[in-house]
Amino acid sequence: MENDAIRVIEVSPQQEWADSVEGFLNQLGRASLLLIPGRDRTRTRALCTLLHGNESSGVQALHRYLRSRAVPRVDLICFVPGVETSLHEALFRHRYIPGERDMNRCFRPPWEDRPGQVAQRLLQLLQEYWPECLIDIHNTSGSGPAFGVVAHEEQRHEALVALFTRNLVVTDLRLGALMELSAAHCPIVTVECGGTGDPRAEQVAWEGLQRYAAADDVLAPNPQMALELYHHPVRLELRAGCRLAYGTRPVAGADLTVPPDLERYNFGTAPSGTFIGWLAGQEALDCLCARNGQGDDQLWRLFRLEGMRLLTAQPLRLFMITHRVDIALSDCLLYAAPEAGHSRLPGVDHSTSAG
Ligand SMILES: [Zn+2]
Repeated sequence: MENDAIRVIEVSPQQEWADSVEGFLNQLGRASLLLIPGRDRTRTRALCTLLHGNESSGVQALHRYLRSRAVPRVDLICFVPGVETSLHEALFRHRYIPGERDMNRCFRPPWEDRPGQVAQRLLQLLQEYWPECLIDIHNTSGSGPAFGVVAHEEQRHEALVALFTRNLVVTDLRLGALMELSAAHCPIVTVECGGTGDPRAEQVAWEGLQRYAAADDVLAPNPQMALELYHHPVRLELRAGCRLAYGTRPVAGADLTVPPDLERYNFGTAPSGTFIGWLAGQEALDCLCARNGQGDDQLWRLFRLEGMRLLTAQPLRLFMITHRVDIALSDCLLYAAPEAGHSRLPGVDHSTSAG
């Protein structure tokens, strides 16, 4: 069953592109796939960006790349699924259109609604074009350095992520994200470039995209590019109906109040005893959970209470800390992984029995 949820555009050398990224998105008009012919037309690589409509770095890099008229090493197919979302109400305001599902949670059935249709069509097009790999470019909603996210440890994943960053999270959380569909014939990785609108994130996306487009082999491991790996994060979530606030002191009516500068820990090490926020009272304890990939709540293994202050109970690597109440409530407040504190070393078996 085919649907028409993604417009396919074969890019010709004569194609004129709008000066601004907003103009470019208006030119696309709706969820699109751009096929940029490469020097070697027998091979194809894939890129995806703007699955989340408020994450601009990837589509800015793509727009810049198209305007540069560079010719990629091999055919490049570039998915831009969130065109409508990025233009909804105001440019790059919404992660997903209010009332719809988060598109990067839709890469598993059901497919009936609009984001489901786009996700399903994207997977059909991957089957048609059969790319050798796929990189899905995102931004975090809080500020912080870039990192990759993969669904399992694999050398080709690491080679792809190393085009952009040295930090890599290996997660067994399964949410319906695109990178969870990584397979032997097409490794898929997510790259989080850093905060939306941060010039450093834009640079990460731009430089990584150029490397990805230009290299002959993007899947061979590079021993010079050892990555820092973090395994099996949990998601610190608030249960439905709970209230969250950001403030420098407990906010009346909020079950959890988080200090506004918590995001300074993004991808840094939070030592044991790091302050996460104030809980309103005993009943607020029921608001929190920190599930791992098996669905087990690890809250009181990773965190502890001192009075009503929520603290880390061990050194943690925290990431994707958001300062947006809507994203914290609809997705999660942050991810946390126990601090490993060592790099991957060649020849060492890093398969893990944790979790
Ligand atoms: Zn995203």
